[in-house]
Amino acid sequence: MAPGASAGEVDHVVARMQEAGVDARVSVGREATVIAATGDRELLATLPLEGYPGVAQVLPILKPYKLVAREVSADPTVIEVDGRRIGDSWFGLIAGPCSVETRDQTLETARAVAAAGATMLRGGAFKPRTSPYSFQGLGAQALAILREAREETGLPIVTELMDPRHVQEVVETADVIQIGARNSQNFLLLSEVGRSDKPVLLKRGLSTSVEELLMAAEYIAKEGNERIVLCERGIKTFETSTRFTLDLGAVAVLKHETHLPVIVDPSHAAGRRDLVLPLARAAVAVGADGIIVETHPRPEQALSDGPQQIPTAEFAAFAAEVRELVALMGKEIG
Ligand code: PEP
Ligand code: MN
Repeated sequence: MAPGASAGEVDHVVARMQEAGVDARVSVGREATVIAATGDRELLATLPLEGYPGVAQVLPILKPYKLVAREVSADPTVIEVDGRRIGDSWFGLIAGPCSVETRDQTLETARAVAAAGATMLRGGAFKPRTSPYSFQGLGAQALAILREAREETGLPIVTELMDPRHVQEVVETADVIQIGARNSQNFLLLSEVGRSDKPVLLKRGLSTSVEELLMAAEYIAKEGNERIVLCERGIKTFETSTRFTLDLGAVAVLKHETHLPVIVDPSHAAGRRDLVLPLARAAVAVGADGIIVETHPRPEQALSDGPQQIPTAEFAAFAAEVRELVALMGKEIG
């Protein structure tokens, strides 16, 4: 719509689109309003959109993803949970243990992470493990511990949903639902969380292209939930010196292609704690909207991902380093 188009003019265009059987979503930005139409091109072609009052331009989106494409949103999307923000000028610092193991381990971590000024607390209750003999997570018991951690620290909770049968219990506890790398293209699960009212942190699959990641996000958005954070967490390549290869180029491409916030997981990419800070720095510099980092009070005793977890005693120093660079990028930890 043209700058200054009236609410009545916007409503008029939306009404005509809906009459024609096309889905219309309105995005009101600082400078302009964008109306995104999805559906049958032929139906849309019956409307003389360019002639309607207030319409500035009609642009086809040629990309296979539509709702998550940068073109359909007037401004970058900011995900807000309990006053914490990720996106635009707000940098998200999400931290916590790989897995919730005990009440003490989780609360101790939550306190350290809160004291260091983190945005949200992460912690796995249901764990996707390569071996069926490895620790699989405490499930419902872990969710109760996470609720207690939130109550004490005020930090919103990010936790993974693995199975459509757990949607209700995970959604009840989580403030942000994590979809892990191994479920990145589990389309039924994506559609499920698309119908929930909680933001979704969608990780890139181990061998998923940028376009496939955006199409996965489109599955969520199509169901009505457009509060999505994308996460680059490293991909499989021939290189074995890091656990995965952190694809920072993908972050730059994603920032170009989508209005959604894009964060980086340096912990799973590195696989070893001494590389987490340099990769986190690189993430900030490339323009990521946040990082998600693993930290544990006693990493050597961790039941999962011990080698990559930062000791909580060192987390405040880590956060201070990240904060300095975030400020240099003109952003603030949200
Ligand atoms: C995790 O965040 O603990 C995790 C399992 O991540 P990913 O799905 O990226 O492997
Ligand atoms: Mn982990």
